[in-house]
Amino acid sequence: MSIEDKDSERHRAKMAKRKAVQDKEVAEKTIEKGLLIVNTGPGKGKTTAAFGLALRMLGYGKKVGVVQFIKGAWHTGEKDAFATFGERIVWHTMGEGFTWETQDLARDIAAAERAWSKALELMADPSISLVVLDELNIALRYDYLDLGKVVDALKARRGDLHVVVTGRNAKPALVEAADLVTEMTAVKHHFAAGVKAQQGIEF
Ligand code: ATP
Ligand code: MG
Repeated sequence: MSIEDKDSERHRAKMAKRKAVQDKEVAEKTIEKGLLIVNTGPGKGKTTAAFGLALRMLGYGKKVGVVQFIKGAWHTGEKDAFATFGERIVWHTMGEGFTWETQDLARDIAAAERAWSKALELMADPSISLVVLDELNIALRYDYLDLGKVVDALKARRGDLHVVVTGRNAKPALVEAADLVTEMTAVKHHFAAGVKAQQGIEF
């Protein structure tokens, strides 16, 4: 046998072994359930990753619901893009902007409450497979909503419903209740170098 043949034989045996391990690992995972997913952390990508999942779900002909808790009047590209899916996307932008923009606590709380009741409505709709609660973490962080009430409702979601919650500073009780939590780390951000929000990247 030539050196090349020996190398390729060794490689084949190694890969076969790795495949057996992988197949066994996959076979052991049998649970099927609607996931509670949290995208948090100071880095960029929390909302866009949630919308990536929305797109993935839409690809299977499913219906997706979105509630935006904080963002208000700002126009975003994704909202228009998702609108092309027609009835398969239900989108509610309920926020009035950030706290330092509204400067009115009672108004912020009322807006968060309205957004939360929309969220409950979408979660109760059996035709919806995935609900994105964008920036819910911010409403929880500023105590616009009762944490216990929100976490209980998320835990009590339908067995096959996936929910994604985004926003910095996720509350420990929410992290505890979640199945999948990802912390986005800010390694470098162009804002620090004076680059303003870019169309198609930030909005
Ligand atoms: P995206 O919507 O792009 O996925 P995000 O949801 O992770 O971002 P948010 O906390 O919702 O981020 O902030 C919204 C905007 O703030 C983003 O467009 C993003 O570019 C900007 N941003 C995110 N992280 C940082 C950071 N570390 N420094 C400055 N700006 C940031
Ligand atoms: Mg966001």
